[in-house]
Amino acid sequence: MIPFLDLHQVNERFRPDMDAAVKRVLDSGWYLLGEECAAFEREFAAFCGTRHAIGCANGLDALKLIIQAYGIGPGDEVIAPANTYIASLIAISANGATPVLVEPDPATCLIDPAQVETHVTPRTKAIMAVHLYGRVADMDAIRAIAARHGLLVIEDAAQAHGAGIGGRRVGSLGDAAGFSFYPGKNLGCLGDGGAVTTDDDALAEKIRALRNYGSDVKYHFPYRGTNSRLDEVQAAWLRVKLPHLDADNARRAEIAARYGREIVHPAVSLPLPADAGARPLSNVWHVYPVRTARRDDLRRHLDACGVQTVIHYPIPPHRQPAYAEWSGLSLPVTEAIHDTVLSLPMSPVLDDDQVGAVIEAVNSWPG
Ligand SMILES: *Cc1c(COP(=O)(O)O)cnc(C)c1O
Repeated sequence: MIPFLDLHQVNERFRPDMDAAVKRVLDSGWYLLGEECAAFEREFAAFCGTRHAIGCANGLDALKLIIQAYGIGPGDEVIAPANTYIASLIAISANGATPVLVEPDPATCLIDPAQVETHVTPRTKAIMAVHLYGRVADMDAIRAIAARHGLLVIEDAAQAHGAGIGGRRVGSLGDAAGFSFYPGKNLGCLGDGGAVTTDDDALAEKIRALRNYGSDVKYHFPYRGTNSRLDEVQAAWLRVKLPHLDADNARRAEIAARYGREIVHPAVSLPLPADAGARPLSNVWHVYPVRTARRDDLRRHLDACGVQTVIHYPIPPHRQPAYAEWSGLSLPVTEAIHDTVLSLPMSPVLDDDQVGAVIEAVNSWPG
């Protein structure tokens, strides 16, 4: 079986450094908000090109903390792409604000600036741009709309660590960004983890307090915060992996380029190629999503060929019981994506033979 993502193999490459990192934490006797978290925050901020990175417990919290820190709440609207992973939207509604869903650009599956512009109301406070599948959203256009209407731009960069455009990385392309270090993400830890990046000193200071019960100085609470900290073991582990992220993303790009060249099937459409000249990569290929009208049949065929696939995602947020208030919405572009999308194996540890076998399996689908 060619696994969709062999996490054991991904992490095993770093075993000796990881063992040393865990030993460092054990020897220190300090487990939360210590040297490792502070060092990772410095290193991740430098990597993203921002003044600040603030570690937190997971990607959802990173986004929730940004929205809370900006004071976005009941009566406020945040525009977000309708085809995102539901966590982007939960981060908004958990603060009492209203997510306003907009259809994505069908070519890229990313937030469509033209749709954003027509959904701005007097209640709109922010635009959430999601770099879905590892592809960078059109941030120049989004920032221009935000500037025209006085809105904040929040990046959901949970799937796009290391991606960038015009020499700048995601995390530095809006007012603030949320990252996830969930094990399967391009930069994943050994459990849950997340971070906020921003150039805004006041926002960073507030989020540092909010993640620790709202405390700025011990036992002094200017805010009603939460407990959302990146623990020392996770931070130490992320410090081991961060220096390898660009190489891992380059390998993903190599695999995607080969899929793009060699998968040839009249019933299967491939994602747009990355912006080839972009350094860092304009698409870090968190997943490689192909589309076909007979998705479930292709999936069965690939399974029979020993190729594991995943659907990102089978049901759009507006069709989920959790958001019953959206059940009347008609979002045909989003619905078509969810009905047709299928992610092929993608990870930095796939070897050339495995990539070849995936290509052969897709091309041999009777379709
Ligand atoms: C993974 C993910 C999140 C949430 O991250 P967690 O660490 O799982 O909380 C948010 N948005 C997107 C687009 C994601 O893929």
